[in-house]
Amino acid sequence: MKQVISDLPDDRYRRRRVFVRVDFNVPISNGQIREDYRLRCAIPTIEYLSQRGAIVILASHLGKPKGTVVPALSLKPVADRLREMLKVPGVKFAGAVVGEPVKHAVAAMKPGEVLLLENLRFERGEEANDPVLAKQLASLADLYVSDAFGTIHRPHASIYGAAQLFAERLAGFLVGKEIEVLSQVRDRPARPFRVVVGGIKIRDKLSALKALLPKADTVILGGGIAYTFLAAQGVATGDSPVEQDFIPWAKEMLTKYQQHILLPHDHVIARSAEKPDGIQIVHGTIPAGFKGLDIGRDASLAFAHELLRGTGTVFWNGPLGVYEVDEFADGTVDIARAMALAHWRGAFTVVGGGDTVAAVRKAEVWETEISHVSTGGGASLKFIGGEELPGITVLSETPQ
Ligand code: ADP
Ligand code: MG
Repeated sequence: MKQVISDLPDDRYRRRRVFVRVDFNVPISNGQIREDYRLRCAIPTIEYLSQRGAIVILASHLGKPKGTVVPALSLKPVADRLREMLKVPGVKFAGAVVGEPVKHAVAAMKPGEVLLLENLRFERGEEANDPVLAKQLASLADLYVSDAFGTIHRPHASIYGAAQLFAERLAGFLVGKEIEVLSQVRDRPARPFRVVVGGIKIRDKLSALKALLPKADTVILGGGIAYTFLAAQGVATGDSPVEQDFIPWAKEMLTKYQQHILLPHDHVIARSAEKPDGIQIVHGTIPAGFKGLDIGRDASLAFAHELLRGTGTVFWNGPLGVYEVDEFADGTVDIARAMALAHWRGAFTVVGGGDTVAAVRKAEVWETEISHVSTGGGASLKFIGGEELPGITVLSETPQ
């Protein structure tokens, strides 16, 4: 088990500089933060360190400036918001990622104070995991804390290269919790273990599907990816998004795990998601010229029934239809509500994925009605699939 910040004795933080990789990638327009959920989630880790007399250096990316300084993507508004939210002696903004002024700012800090660095991706070396940038980042602090689960699968300088240069590397509370919950789902799920996978790209879900198909009691497939499996069964799928490359694999899985796989047998179809004309519900085959854009009512009922069977565990990633368009959101909303019901009836429910979490919100299911909402889309799927995540691996590697 990786060490979490609370595993270290309190006095190990006193007057020590702690580099914390956080995820402050919040929506900002015209210099205003629209929604600060990710900042609120970081409070426990930051205040824990500050209260123990650490000098806290926070680093995050914001948007995609691609290695240049984009003023609209500055983290300055985030520093201002943190100053209002945190109960710490002081919050400073560095104005740059690395360099002399940053070094001076760090040297001037008192125990308990917090310094936010400028957007990491203003530096070209961040996404390239450049060793020079890694060294500069690591030279700012004595201890490394990883608390950005959403980017933990990316081998970037602040996630991997810099982390390798610290003798002490720990997980913050957010990452600690993600590792604990997702390992439990992956390695010892309470049964029955049901999995719902929707969304659009099989490749993104491949490792997770490969790991889950043999393990789960039921795998429910919906959304765009279901059509590749239906096509593999020989069902006519019209113009639905079928990934030809994966048909042989889908056939193999259907043969091997026939007992465990549930597919939708009715569909909400239209000519296109953008122009939802000619909407109809069909059972079985989809006519040429039409796409399956949501699961039908019978599929919703069957899937919900399965989720409510017993307690156990349910893991869900990927919307069951084009939930962004109201006409094709019903199936996903039904599943979100069934997830909430399963939770209240005692199941352990986990939801991951950017779009899936957005869909849960659209369904007006609250975060408190899901046992664990993962902050990592790609990262949670890769973790479940047993893939190596650089930002987690580095926490247990022996220092060089
Ligand atoms: P997450 O971000 O939660 O991991 P994905 O990105 O894999 O989820 O999938 C979300 C996308 O899948 C949404 O944009 C949704 O519109 C799309 N989608 C779901 N079902 C279908 C479908 N039947 N046809 C086309 N797109 C679909
Ligand atoms: Mg997505």
